[in-house]
Order: sequence, then C-alpha cells, then structure tokens
Amino acid sequence: MKREGYDCICSRCGKNIKLLFRPNRDLPIYCKRCYILSLTETINNSVKILKQDLDDRGIEQGVQLLVFNIKRFGSLPGQFSTINEVKKGVFKRIKEEIKDKNKVEKILILFERLFERLY
Ligand SMILES: [Zn+2]
Repeated sequence: MKREGYDCICSRCGKNIKLLFRPNRDLPIYCKRCYILSLTETINNSVKILKQDLDDRGIEQGVQLLVFNIKRFGSLPGQFSTINEVKKGVFKRIKEEIKDKNKVEKILILFERLFERLY
C-alpha cells in the first residue's frame, strides 16, 4: 500500500524521508534526528553569542538572531516541535547559562517583544 506524502531527502544526512507537506525549495528538510541536531546547534550558537560581554546593541542583535532562527525552525516542513516548546527550551538554557540576572531579564523582555512582532 502506498503511503501518502512527498518523498524527500534529509538536507543533512541524506536519509529518505516522507513529508506530509509539499516541501519548500528555499528551506532545508530534516529527518527527526537532524532536525533536533540542527536546532540544538543553532540554539547553542545563539546562547554562546549572548553569553559574551555585550552592550545593549549587541544584546539586541543576538536576540534578533535567536528569534529569527526559532521562527525559521518552526516553519520548516514537517516540524517536530512547536514554536512554544522551542521557546521554553531556549528560555531555560538562557537562565541556566547566563549568570547576570539583569542581562537575563533584558534578553527575555527583548525576546518577547521581537517574538510578538514576528507572529
Ligand atoms: Zn537526517
């Protein structure tokens, strides 16, 4: 019996996958494992940037990049996590890894503001 869906190849590992949605040529397509790996790497990089000694402008740019990437992952075909799940994970990481509480607060407020604007 033929399964419904679109035959695709994972952009990262080359595995054959089936998507329920027609793939968008401009976006990468990941199998579940590669989706999680790529998302984790993206979040790690963003948190690493935000951990640096930054002025307000630098913080704003870092948060902008983070929000942009979360939005990008949330709109990939066959997404495996909801935007809110990803967001919750990111907030947890930021609170764990950035020791300066004022900076964490600044980041989270900015994040919410930019996040609202993008949806
Ligand atoms: Zn893969």
